[in-house]
Amino acid sequence: MEKIKIAVQKSGRLSEKSLEMLSECDITLTQGKRKLIAISHDFPLEVLFLRDDDIPQYVSDGVADIGIVGENEVLEKDKKVELVKRLGFARCRISLAIPQDVEYHGPQWFEGKRIATSYPGILQKYLDEQSIQAEIEEISGSVEIAPSIGLADSIFDIVSSGSTLVSNRLKEVEVVCNSEAVIIASPALSSEKTKLLNDLLFRIETVQRSKGNKYILLNAPNDKLDKIISILPGIKSPTVMPLHQEGWSSLHSVVNEKEFWGIVDQLKENGAEGILAIPIEKMIY
Ligand code: ATP
Ligand code: ZN
Repeated sequence: MEKIKIAVQKSGRLSEKSLEMLSECDITLTQGKRKLIAISHDFPLEVLFLRDDDIPQYVSDGVADIGIVGENEVLEKDKKVELVKRLGFARCRISLAIPQDVEYHGPQWFEGKRIATSYPGILQKYLDEQSIQAEIEEISGSVEIAPSIGLADSIFDIVSSGSTLVSNRLKEVEVVCNSEAVIIASPALSSEKTKLLNDLLFRIETVQRSKGNKYILLNAPNDKLDKIISILPGIKSPTVMPLHQEGWSSLHSVVNEKEFWGIVDQLKENGAEGILAIPIEKMIY
């Protein structure tokens, strides 16, 4: 049987979450004989561990069928790959930052300036759109120290909390793009591999959907049932079962974490008792 080959970052900010996601999909990995490859016995999948910068290229060449990588690398490398799913982790933005004490009135500030970055492709595209001529200093790491050592006037880099900028006395002045981990796919997957990709996406979506949802059980007096049912969202409608104690029922439903406390308050106000909330592992509609 054919296997789908997935490229995952070998070590870095995406690695752990990528493997955790596979494991939540009940795909366990056995370390293969070669260290850079792992295989799964419960899903026809092989993992190739690579540097994140190389993943778009490997996927566009078809060496890997799919890959998990930051959207920023996909934009930067500009290879022929399809973005098939946003994964919601490793969220960050790619921004322009300048020294804190410098006055700033808009992107024209960058005209004639030197900007240090590891993302020259994304930056050049932005500068062209803004009709700005600037000098790009491409460096591969520790971009944030470039202004203090006199290598550049400003930087274009990944920002998440902004604390790295602050500790380097820089301020974020333009957010050029946002990024999160995504799944990319080779443009020419065989029909068998497309089927495997869809099976994997189905599992990922099932896990993502159940995250943030809780299974809720409670007891309610029968004369308040209609009101309590109207408070509970549920997938279709809540399950109602009679309790041994006359005049009372047990209700089961699914509630999203965001609404959870609000709903619990209303349930209590309407006479619900013995409320239990249980984590949900998988939700399939
Ligand atoms: P490699 O050795 O594989 O080349 P790297 O050092 O280039 O790794 P990491 O720092 O591990 O890359 O970052 C991987 C990806 O994680 C980035 O491309 C970006 O999408 C995301 N990322 C980076 N920094 C942050 C951050 N501070 N917060 C959230 N996501 C981030
Ligand atoms: Zn990298």
